[in-house]
Amino acid sequence: MTLDADILTHVPAPSARPVSLRVTPAAERAIQQGHPWVFDQAITDQNHDEGHPGDLAVIYRSDRRFLALGLFDPDSNIRVRILHRGKPVTIDQAWFDAALLQSVRRRDSIEPTGTTGYRIVHGENDQLPGLIVDRYDATFVLKIYTAAWIPHLDRMLHALGNACRVERIVLRLSRGLQEQTGNLHGLSDGIILRGDPLHGPVLFKENGLTFEADPIRGHKTGFFLDQRDNRARIEPLSAGKDVLNVFAYSGGFSLYAARGGARSVVSLDISQPALDAAVRHFALNKAHPNIAAAEHERLCADAFDAMKEMARDRRRFDLVIIDPPAFATKQAHVDRAIAAYEQLTGLGLDLLEPGGKIVMASCSSRVDDAAFFQAVQRAARRSGRPLRDLEQTGHAVDHPIGFKEGAYLKCLFATA
Ligand code: SAH
Repeated sequence: MTLDADILTHVPAPSARPVSLRVTPAAERAIQQGHPWVFDQAITDQNHDEGHPGDLAVIYRSDRRFLALGLFDPDSNIRVRILHRGKPVTIDQAWFDAALLQSVRRRDSIEPTGTTGYRIVHGENDQLPGLIVDRYDATFVLKIYTAAWIPHLDRMLHALGNACRVERIVLRLSRGLQEQTGNLHGLSDGIILRGDPLHGPVLFKENGLTFEADPIRGHKTGFFLDQRDNRARIEPLSAGKDVLNVFAYSGGFSLYAARGGARSVVSLDISQPALDAAVRHFALNKAHPNIAAAEHERLCADAFDAMKEMARDRRRFDLVIIDPPAFATKQAHVDRAIAAYEQLTGLGLDLLEPGGKIVMASCSSRVDDAAFFQAVQRAARRSGRPLRDLEQTGHAVDHPIGFKEGAYLKCLFATA
């Protein structure tokens, strides 16, 4: 690994002066029960007002005993993200090494499945709130959601180098953080923190299939790693089938369908670059005879319009997969999102052969699983195609759920 430490030279070191605070009784209980956030309104008492992003915040109980400690962020309403609770501890290199190693070990079962692209750190759910680390073979993408991580980046990079074979580390900043220019100390979205520059995508394996990811410009950190297990579930359902993959992105589900023996696969997405990547993915995996044999059609269009048009043309499929982008990232959008899920279910069923299978996914964190599943079932009844053999799935092992707000991915497999 090339050690290009220069880029972090303007980044402040972690402050030696922690912020001490106390919180409301409700927040105290929530922290004790494992909730990873302390909101600004929950703070009742703070020793000084000069806390900088990334200072350690020590939270004391009402009886003045130690409760927890975390990363302070004066610019976020999530004022503290909890790193540790219980007994006092020193947050040093050894602490970061141990935390990262625990996350890495949690994922020991993944690589033996022929998978080198997966999530190493899933933020709050891995006791490292506000931090995502995804791995694409030897390229690691570190995505931060708060400026509080910036003074600790160097230790995190060392921890990664100690735990994994690292060739390159890319830094991604959440959209909110990109706007906090005063807090970035020269860092920007997509810069390489370690290793050689990246010209084009990186290749990695997922269940033996070769995919590419664009860690610098791609959605999320370059690939939708969270759907890996759901993609794999498509393979045994596909032999001899005509498959429609709506919101296909770079054809993840399409590849599994093809390897499973699908006769034809349509990848439908509004993004031409995503569909171009899908074509490359078929080419990269053509050594597999089923993939070489499958007919792969790309349709670059708005999904709602294209599905209506296909229904008018009386096209039918045996398997329809619908994995839309998050429709509700704000509470105000929940009703609209539910209406969109209902509409998509109806459109999908119009294109489904009798007895065919439909797969509906939602990554809207604001729509809970019950509301999503009910919306899909309501739409199915309205279409006169009640769902049978329902199977509900969620997060893969590398996307563990540690708290209620961490559960965002829902997926329903059904026959109609
Ligand atoms: N199923 C994919 C991930 C889908 S992400 C996988 O397994 O990798 C959502 C996709 O929806 C993105 O590729 C985006 O380009 C596409 N998209 C967003 N709005 C769309 C629309 N109105 N019509 C069609 N595709 C759309």
